[in-house]
Amino acid sequence: MAALAPHQRRLLAEQGLASHPLVTAEQIHGAEIAIVEEPSVKPIPGVDGLLTMTRGITLGISVADCAPVWIVARDGSAGALLHSGKKGTESGIVPRGIRELCARTGLPPSGLSVTIGPCIRPPCYEIDFAAEIRRQAEGEGVLEIHDEEICTACHPERYYSYRREKGMTGRMLATLTLG
Ligand SMILES: [Zn+2]
Repeated sequence: MAALAPHQRRLLAEQGLASHPLVTAEQIHGAEIAIVEEPSVKPIPGVDGLLTMTRGITLGISVADCAPVWIVARDGSAGALLHSGKKGTESGIVPRGIRELCARTGLPPSGLSVTIGPCIRPPCYEIDFAAEIRRQAEGEGVLEIHDEEICTACHPERYYSYRREKGMTGRMLATLTLG
C-alpha cells in the first residue's frame, strides 16, 4: 500500500487535485458513514463511508473486489463515497448513504445519482452484491443509477482483485471531490 501512495498522488495531481486534502476511512466492512467537513491525516476510524458538502476536500475509498459506490446530489451540493462489498451491502450502507444525503441536502432520492464502480461479480464470485446495490438504490427511489458492470477479477491488466490474487494484492483508490 505504501508503494502505491506516490502513484495515487501523481494521479490526483493529474486531475488537478494535488493541493486538496485526501480524507480516507478505516473500512471495517460495516455500514457507518462519517460526515467530512475538514481534513484528517488519519483514516476516519470505524467507518466505510464518507459524506461531504465541503468543496476542496477529496474523499478516498480503497477497494479490490468490493464495490466503490458514489452517491452524488445532481445539483452538485453534496456527495458520498462508500465501500460496499458483500458485508457492507448486507448491512445496507448504500441505503443509509442515500437517506443521509437526502436528510442533509433536503433533496428527494430523485435528486441523487448512484454509480457502482468495478467490483467482483458472477461468475468470478458467487454473490452478485452489485445487483443488490442497484436494487437497494431503486428501492430508495433513486432513478439515475450507473453501473458499467465491470468485474475486477476478469481484468488483471487493469484492476487488483483480492480474490484472484488470494489477498496478496494492491487496492484501487476511488475518489470523490465536489467541484
Ligand atoms: Zn469476473
